[in-house]
Amino acid sequence: MKKDAYYADYLWYNSKPVENSWLLVHSGKITGCTAQKPDESYKLHYFDKSAIFPSLINTHTHLPMTFLRGYADDLPLHEWLNKHIWPAEKQWLSAEFVTDFTILSVAELIHSGTSCVNDMYFFTKNMAKVFSNAGLRGTLGCGVLDTPGDKKNQNSLFKNVEKLIEIYKDNPLINIAFCPHAIYTVSPDTYRRVVEFVQKHDLLLHTHLSETEWEVKESFSRYGKRPVELMDSLGVFDCKSVFAHCVHLNDDEIKLMGQKKANVSHCLQSNLKLASGFAPISKLTEAGANVTIGTDGAASNNDQDMISEMNTVALFHKGFMNSPTVFSAEDVFNCATKNAAHALGLTNVGELKNGFQADFMVVSYASAHMQPVYNHLSHLIYSAKKSDVTALYVAGNPLMVNGKLKTINEKKAVKDACGWSEKIKTWRQI
Ligand SMILES: [Zn+2]
Repeated sequence: MKKDAYYADYLWYNSKPVENSWLLVHSGKITGCTAQKPDESYKLHYFDKSAIFPSLINTHTHLPMTFLRGYADDLPLHEWLNKHIWPAEKQWLSAEFVTDFTILSVAELIHSGTSCVNDMYFFTKNMAKVFSNAGLRGTLGCGVLDTPGDKKNQNSLFKNVEKLIEIYKDNPLINIAFCPHAIYTVSPDTYRRVVEFVQKHDLLLHTHLSETEWEVKESFSRYGKRPVELMDSLGVFDCKSVFAHCVHLNDDEIKLMGQKKANVSHCLQSNLKLASGFAPISKLTEAGANVTIGTDGAASNNDQDMISEMNTVALFHKGFMNSPTVFSAEDVFNCATKNAAHALGLTNVGELKNGFQADFMVVSYASAHMQPVYNHLSHLIYSAKKSDVTALYVAGNPLMVNGKLKTINEKKAVKDACGWSEKIKTWRQI
């Protein structure tokens, strides 16, 4: 049996601080935490002036959209989508393209301490292959957009999802999810069909919900219902599901989502950039919903950096609520770790505790902006940058050590992305 022990000045173990101790890992699983130096049967790893935390979980993104980072900025959501994002996707989407930009995004995720991602996009098979090769954990969602009258295409999509489930059923890192895009791009009939399918196969349904005021008006004019009411009538709250954004909610909708213990992915930086508003996460938490954090795609964020996302969430809601006590560092960290694991139905990640998978990040406190240290967790939320994350392990496997990626050729990933961007720039000028 492979036995490893990881020493740090500070560990967040069992959701509590522990100092000057060793995290014990047997064949990728956590077996304990001890102040005693382990015996010689262990391989010892020392992290100087560092802390070990559970690694982060991003509950809403579209990784291949990294190709549109900075492609169209400072525009309202619908103009941004219809005039820029969707035409570019229509032109460029291919298996090779998705593969190259997923690799680039995975490099970025690992650098920022993210070990698990809930993604919604297309070419899921190619994305799953990248994740599997990189050793990253992923709930990878097959996107659904309705094309009126195209039943044949939809039928083949459902068949493809079944094939993917079969391929990855024994892969401990990969879960397949189903992702109807939103109520304005997917019909109620298709939502019903997806709900039935995910219940049959015990999958996660991942969708956008109430991102803009326009969406609320559109839902009302098409169906006579607000989006949350519509989702409820389609049974979406009664299956395993994650709802991205949840910005425009009235009190009844908040109450209902609380009663249903709905999983919310709060994508604050994306919502702020597109000026869509922001999710009322204090009220949602109070009502009983499970709040988690997502970056959304890099076209609207413009990064996959969960360290900076946690910082924005912590600061913004204090300002908005006019209360420095709301969303403490620990509350925000829980949103990005154990709440997120719960939302994705993962019962053995999100915390460092006995029996859990050894998914953890190492954060260095050696830089000037990280000293002095009175509270390591508060520094992680209020002072740290992603460059302070020096190592990332998933199921005990090193994906990054001393800031160097172990499973991704980062130089090649950047070179490939540059190659694509040259072609895209030429196409855009025509
Ligand atoms: Zn999104």
